[in-house]
Amino acid sequence: MVGRQGAGKGTQCVRVSHRYAIPHISTGDMLRAAVGAGSPFGQLAKSFMDRGELVPDTVINGVIAERLDQPDARLRGFVLDGFPRTKDQAVELNALLAPASLHMVINLEVSVALVLRRLSSRRVCSVCGSIYSDDLPPKTAGICDNCGGELVQREDDTEAAILRRLEIYEKATAPLLGFYAEMGLLETVDGVGTPDEVLARISEVLAEHGFYEGG
Ligand code: ADP
Ligand code: ZN
Repeated sequence: MVGRQGAGKGTQCVRVSHRYAIPHISTGDMLRAAVGAGSPFGQLAKSFMDRGELVPDTVINGVIAERLDQPDARLRGFVLDGFPRTKDQAVELNALLAPASLHMVINLEVSVALVLRRLSSRRVCSVCGSIYSDDLPPKTAGICDNCGGELVQREDDTEAAILRRLEIYEKATAPLLGFYAEMGLLETVDGVGTPDEVLARISEVLAEHGFYEGG
């Protein structure tokens, strides 16, 4: 799944993962886990992430290669979130999957104005990772509806880092849309609406490609 920061990729990928019983593979989540663990690798990644810069391809390509090689992904397939986000990563992904290939690429479309509003108010559950914003507030301020955990702001949801990430998206990631359209894989889905509405649109497109609930 591709789309601007704040388009709702994380939210929707979690739901797709549950509904279709396939692993959700998020490079952002994997990198944040490494940062949390405080490993040298995590410290290196953090120095890029906090500024809104991409982690170098050499680093991220190794992480994704290892993850795609795990039994669950090999057996069931996967929904990829946050990878690829450069042309070089897309070429690397094709090479990793060969002789198989991606079945489809969903472009979750939301305007810059709306993602700015969502990101600047985004809060994330420190326990289960559920995502909230002004458009989707928790029932009690600061507390996760799902698990009661404390809601926190991501280190890279500062104004400077948000603007930098959106700039990198336009420059490095948006060109992937043309690349995947040429491969005949691209489906664009309107990301404006409630999470349930957007999931219904995604499910419709998946059904057109022969994917049904429960795998
Ligand atoms: P966002 O899409 O809002 O930036 P993510 O959680 O997907 O949020 O990613 C957070 C950060 O992790 C990125 O800003 C970047 O530093 C790093 N990152 C994630 N995926 C990649 C990737 N494929 N290539 C390089 N860096 C990545
Ligand atoms: Zn929670």
